Formats: sequence, C-alpha cells, structure tokens
Amino acid sequence: MTQNPPSLRPDLARARLQDTGLDAARPGQPRIGMVSLGCPKALVDSERILTRLRAEGYAISPDYAGAEAVIVNTCGFLDSAKLESLDAIGEALRENGRVIVTGCLGADPEYITGAHPTVLAVTGPHQYEQVLDAVHAAVPPAPDPFIDLLPATGVSLTPRHYSYLKIAEGCDHKCKFCIIPDMRGRLQSRPIAAVMREAEKLVAAGVKELLVISQDTSAYGTDWKGRDSKFPFLDLSRDLSTLGAWVRLHYVYPYPHVREVIGLMADPANGLLPYLDIPFQHAHPDTLKRMARPAAASRTLDEIAAWRRDCPEITLRSTFIVGYPGETEAEFQTLLDWLDEAQLDRVGCFQYENVAGARSNALPDHVPEEIKQDRWDRFMQKAQAISEAKLAAKVGQRLTVLVDAVDDEGATCRTMADAPEIDGNLFIDDGFAGLAPGDLVAVEVEEASDYDLWGRRLD
Ligand code: SF4
Repeated sequence: MTQNPPSLRPDLARARLQDTGLDAARPGQPRIGMVSLGCPKALVDSERILTRLRAEGYAISPDYAGAEAVIVNTCGFLDSAKLESLDAIGEALRENGRVIVTGCLGADPEYITGAHPTVLAVTGPHQYEQVLDAVHAAVPPAPDPFIDLLPATGVSLTPRHYSYLKIAEGCDHKCKFCIIPDMRGRLQSRPIAAVMREAEKLVAAGVKELLVISQDTSAYGTDWKGRDSKFPFLDLSRDLSTLGAWVRLHYVYPYPHVREVIGLMADPANGLLPYLDIPFQHAHPDTLKRMARPAAASRTLDEIAAWRRDCPEITLRSTFIVGYPGETEAEFQTLLDWLDEAQLDRVGCFQYENVAGARSNALPDHVPEEIKQDRWDRFMQKAQAISEAKLAAKVGQRLTVLVDAVDDEGATCRTMADAPEIDGNLFIDDGFAGLAPGDLVAVEVEEASDYDLWGRRLD
C-alpha cells in the first residue's frame, strides 16, 4: 500500500536538488523538471532517470518555469494515488505545458490521455529507455563531456547520508489486493555484482545507511535459473553487511530461510541492522488466505519468537490492512490478540480500499466504512500503547544514533531501530553544536514519547 511520506514528494526533491547544486545549468544547457510521486521504489526509478539525463548533459530544473519539459513519475497503486497522479500531471501541464508521464500509472496510457490528451508521451514503470527517448524527442540533448560530470553516486533524491538500494523489480506473488505484478511484471533480480557495485560506490561517496528495497526482498535471486545458491538473499545480505555502512532490510517475508540472516544481525561487527520490515498485513489464516498472501501458512508468532531468541535486539516493523473483504469481528479480534503477543516495535495500518483491477474488489462481504474506521482506531490504539511501552524501556540505554538534520533547535537523529521517513526519531536538544547530517554519535536516552526519543550526547 502506498505510504508516500510528504518528505518524498517533489517539493523535497526540488529542495534537495537545490541543496546539492544539481539544478545549476550552464547557458544553453537543456533543462528537465521531475515530479516524483509514489513509494521509495518509484523514487529509485526517478533517481535513475535523473542520473541518465545528467549523464547525457541535461540540467535538472528545480521549478516548472525553468524546465523545457517535465517528467511526472506516477503512482497507480490505490485509486486515491491515481487521482493524485492525474492532479500532478494537470498541474505540470498548467505550469509548464510539456509533460512526459512515466511510472505505474503509465501502464494504462488511455487512463492518462483520457484525462490529459495533451501530454507528450506516456511510458510504463521502469521503461527508462522509452522515457529518455521521449525526452530526446521533446528536448534534444546538448552534451558537453568536459562539463557534464556526474556525481559518483548518480543523482540522489534522499539526503546524502542514506540511500535506497533497489535489488529487484516485479513480483511473483498474486496478492488479491495488489496490482503491482500486473504493472511491474514478474520478479527480476539485479545481479549481485551490480547491486554490490552500486552499494560500494554509494558508501565510498559517504552514504552511511543503505535501505534495501524490492517487492519481496527475501525472494531476491530466486528467479535465476541454475543458480549456485538456494537463497541469494542470504549471500547478498552477507556481502552488504561487510561494507561498513548500516544496512536496513525492507519488505522481507517470514520464510524459514530468513532465520539465517538474523544471526548476522546479532553480530554488532556487521553492518546489517537488527531490523526487519515485514509486511504481515493480517494474522488470521482465513483472511490471509483470502488475500492470497505469500507465507500465509507460516506460524508467524513462532518465527518472531525464534528471531528474538537469536537476536534479542531486533526491531520488527510491519504494516497491516483492516477491513479486508469478509473480515469478521472474530478475525479482527485474532489480529488484535496476535499483535498483543507479537509486540511489534513499529506498526503501520491501512483501511482496505478497492483498487481498479485488483481481484479483491470482486470478493463478497465488503466491510462498511464505519466498521473499518472503528477497527483502525482500535488497532492503532493498541499499537501506540505497545510503542510507548517499548520506547519507555529504552530510557537510560546508551545507543549510537545517525544524525539526519541539524537546525537552531537541535539535532534530529535516528537509532538503529528507526528507518527514515516511516519510523520515529531521537532528538538531541543540547550540546548539538558541531554535529552534521551523517554523523554517528553516542547518546544516552533520557526521555520517551509514543513514537520518539530524546537523548544526551555522550561523546
Ligand atoms: S507480495 Fe503481494 S502485495 Fe507485495 S508486490 Fe507482490 S503481489 Fe503485491
């Protein structure tokens, strides 16, 4: 489900470009604008497109007025995201007039051209070559090999000290509420050597934290015929853990082989953080079956207990859907009881929404809106109480934190238990002089709220 945090929206991306000076253009240099919507995976696509454009001699415009054409990278996961994408295309047309559409919504070109017939071109998700062709047609390149040097990391839309690392595209599962496999195709894993090359380059350029993403990270490499290793996910995790940066795994499923990476996480000498982002979505076996979720039959509480046994420090984050078609009060209660027992550290929750093209739309017994809202409230109340208790238990602990931002009021940091954008923060209100984004500092936790911590510097 979409979790597009405001800070991943184009307003931040534009600020980021200005921040890094990447918007600087020489006279006569063609300039392209980019509006990036959607999830971190779409953000990675935007970064790849911008990187290629910079390599070809285009400048990146931070505003509509300075651009000769604008690329809108769309999200089509939920109906609300589709409308947001159409609005963004409309705004780019109004403000600039020359618009190339790409991304998930581009998989349905008629939907876009029906609403906005004057767009220059529509391409689908990760069709980088087609996007570049459309840009070349609209704004011919004018490269200057002596001037258009690309930063070693490519163009990054996230702060310089952390970066998303996309290891695969597409998905082999068929969850009924999801149309990503229709839009993005089957699992296609990037070769380990290519992923490692990119990761090493990022770390050499100063990146302190790599956020590993794909649709199903634990399935990485299982699409390779005749592979040497049964689970290349384990090999990749091992290799990434040696780079000297924090490595955070997102979108992992509770398959039995995941237990093997937990051992790596338990060793503080490894960069692999004791953190797993696992989209459980529900806990009742019947609901999971109706969702057609991968690993639906796994005994998740047993897996969680085993992970905590092997790595007591582990932080578990997950997302859930309440009000899925056919969800009874008893099924929902099972989910609440499960959460009580699982004691997850970080939890996101969505109320079920129909998505055009999803098979779940046709399921019987859709849940009325007021019941969805009531279940969401009850779920979040419990999740918040768990989070509050877990954070209160951290008061007095000594932790290493990564500084994300510093202003006049203090430093905003994250512990190993906090992913950027989606989890909480640790704030340092005193003695923050001299700190800069990307610094790692030792703190003692002094105070906790429902989702955030406050700490005192130790060094
Ligand atoms: S695992 Fe399920 S929800 Fe995730 S991308 Fe694949 S089909 Fe969609």
